[in-house]
Amino acid sequence: MKQDIAVQSLPRLTFGNLSGVPGLVHGVFTRHGGVSLPPYESLNASWGDSDSPGAVRENLTRVKNAVGLERLVSSRQVHGDAVNFIGKESVEELDERPPTLIAPPADALATNMSGLGLVIKIADCQSIFLADPQSRIIANIHSGWRGSVQNIAGKTVRYLKDRFGLNPAQTLAGVSPSLGPCCAQFVNYRHEIPEELWAFQVRPQYFDFWAITRDQLISAGIGEGNIEFAARCTVCGKAEFFSYRAEGSTGRMASVIGWKSF
Ligand SMILES: [Zn+2]
Repeated sequence: MKQDIAVQSLPRLTFGNLSGVPGLVHGVFTRHGGVSLPPYESLNASWGDSDSPGAVRENLTRVKNAVGLERLVSSRQVHGDAVNFIGKESVEELDERPPTLIAPPADALATNMSGLGLVIKIADCQSIFLADPQSRIIANIHSGWRGSVQNIAGKTVRYLKDRFGLNPAQTLAGVSPSLGPCCAQFVNYRHEIPEELWAFQVRPQYFDFWAITRDQLISAGIGEGNIEFAARCTVCGKAEFFSYRAEGSTGRMASVIGWKSF
């Protein structure tokens, strides 16, 4: 993982495995480089809170220009386990809120189209990139603790395999900065987290959601060596990242993956 500050106008984190795929662009943008005012300073990617719509539009335009894709698509994220596969026909039916297309509410976006950036908005939750270079299926998954409990990561891999021919064995994955085991305290875990995940406690009440995601992706057929983690905690890194746990009212970072048009 490298931080590409010098080359790009906006700081973003990229993954080594995904950077090696010809034609693929991706990045987890930080909180810096946008125009939103506190508490959304500054590159807030979410329309959902009371940030200025004009500021969010400008921020997303900067993100779109930085990745160099023609269109961005996002969904209202609902902490569920639905997958939106966006194909050539369905893309024309989406609503538009410039500079993004808005897909129906879902927590995983997938496509095999070129020129379309899949956007997930995060502040402690994981954005999980998937890319199968051969089938050209890519996905961007939003997985907070509720997503982990529902195994949206594994379900997305299986859905894309069964319906669209994704090959898990050759699929690469990248997991964004997110709530780390250092800060993932769940005092009510007995009610919130199912017992089969209690083994992922690193000490009483503290859970390693990175390890849960690794386990879920491997169980769905992705090779351990193909999974890369930013391994950066957003709570500890709130100077660089938006963190809901650390700040309460705050912005959301944009994480984007897409195929360049040729
Ligand atoms: Zn931490």
